[in-house]
Amino acid sequence: MPRPRCERCQRPLDHCLCPLIPSLDSRTRVVLLQHPSETTHALNTARLAALGLVNAELRVGEVFTDLGELLASPGYRPVLLFPGEQAQALTAYGEMDDRPLMLIVPDGTWRKARKLLYLNPLLDALPRVTLAEVPPSRYRLRKAPEPGAVSTIEAVVQALNVLEQPVNFDDLLRPFEALIDGQIKAMGADVFERNHGA
Ligand SMILES: [Zn+2]
Repeated sequence: MPRPRCERCQRPLDHCLCPLIPSLDSRTRVVLLQHPSETTHALNTARLAALGLVNAELRVGEVFTDLGELLASPGYRPVLLFPGEQAQALTAYGEMDDRPLMLIVPDGTWRKARKLLYLNPLLDALPRVTLAEVPPSRYRLRKAPEPGAVSTIEAVVQALNVLEQPVNFDDLLRPFEALIDGQIKAMGADVFERNHGA
């Protein structure tokens, strides 16, 4: 018998993270695009990000047929949070910015994210933005495939903290941090040190 799961956060009921998930307002619209193979990861941080932000949604798929409609939503400037030669570092909204960003965030490994771009040319054609300074990830359990790589929820928090300063979105990380601490405890401190110690 599989353990019963919380329908909202998808964690086992006795480890439900919902009490820690905030309900934060943002000017920026956040759209998380997730490859179906990522949905079963224990640390589904894109889902936690979507649950904790009022103005966010999570879409799961490989080919997103209604992207044209989504990107044409009035009131937002769509950009893709992904590295690239022409990528611009995110900066705070200015007083003249009457149209906030629609921040499209591909979730999953770099390879999966690149595949999403390949399968969805409209995404590939979007202006790209990146984080100027990336503090080290707390996401120690899953090897970062490239230097500076952070989990999806950390990337979203860092992006919003830059764009909407002085508003701070760190509360979004609370369920994520509980999840990481829980995993470290479950693994056993010495095994963790052996595998992940500096
Ligand atoms: Zn829950």
